[in-house]
Amino acid sequence: TNKFTDLLKKKEKIGSGGFGSVFRCLHILEEKDYAVKRIGLKNNTKKLDWYLGEVRAISSMEHKNVVRYHQSWTDLSCDGFSSDESDHSDSSDESEGSDLYLFIQMEFCPRTLKSRLKTNPTNSQQALLYLHDLLEGLAYIHKSGYLHRDLAKKNIFFGKDKNIKIGDFGLAKKMDDNMSCSHSPHSTTYGKGLHRAPELLENQPFSRKSDLYALGIVFLEMLLSPMKYDDHDTIRNILKIKEGKFPHWLENKFETAILKSLLAKSPNDRPTADELIHLISSKLCKLKEGNENANG
Ligand code: ATP
Ligand code: MG
Ligand code: MG
Repeated sequence: TNKFTDLLKKKEKIGSGGFGSVFRCLHILEEKDYAVKRIGLKNNTKKLDWYLGEVRAISSMEHKNVVRYHQSWTDLSCDGFSSDESDHSDSSDESEGSDLYLFIQMEFCPRTLKSRLKTNPTNSQQALLYLHDLLEGLAYIHKSGYLHRDLAKKNIFFGKDKNIKIGDFGLAKKMDDNMSCSHSPHSTTYGKGLHRAPELLENQPFSRKSDLYALGIVFLEMLLSPMKYDDHDTIRNILKIKEGKFPHWLENKFETAILKSLLAKSPNDRPTADELIHLISSKLCKLKEGNENANG
């Protein structure tokens, strides 16, 4: 038996991918839900090293806007959980037939930003609030010496405490002394698609400013969410805005100024997370005062 998995009762699968699966589990003593990521290693030590990078990144962080890590362990069996149901349903992922499994136990987060925006669009004030909190999480990650490198709606979560949180440290990388990071063997997978900062297309190293660019795209996706565009139109609009062509309803707004600074072509023209936090806090204060005055 395994002292970790004996206490965690597997409830349902909540995510899967090439790496393996993520399960919602109940800790039987705490009566609390956790998310447990199970990664099949097939006794591949290179792969273990890669995923230990994720464990070391997330385990070194503790912040209200970062998905909380609890513990990790390895096991020879994929079915180490104390579950009644047999686990034949998830034979589709790569972890099937592995000899060694890595488990990462994290805070369970009920929603992602991606799923939330589908049903509840954010107005501009909410979008600013979320951006503010995400910047606090990102500033903390950067101060901890890491680059996230995979900021996108699907990797941003809402905790049980309702806080917005940065998760999925699968591509996170410890920074070297010059505050950037050279290309890793997995470099082709980071900064995916729309979120990829322009300098990465010119083979410049990924820097903190590349994370800020990706967060700029996430902010833009929040601002576009009330427009009820379909996926295709959303992408078209994002591509236009990346080229600097803003729709008229976004002109001359505070949010647009923030957006333009985050999406600046040159990394040096983008603000740091701390600079933006400052700017947004004072704006949010003013908005709050305005709301209070309007309410008498
Ligand atoms: P993807 O390519 O979908 O992002 P991934 O390999 O990067 O997958 P994760 O993002 O860490 O892996 O997890 C995959 C999915 O599992 C997430 O999209 C999410 O639905 C779910 N998940 C991961 N961590 C948690 C968590 N802490 N709480 C709730 N669900 C989670
Ligand atoms: Mg992910
Ligand atoms: Mg990932």
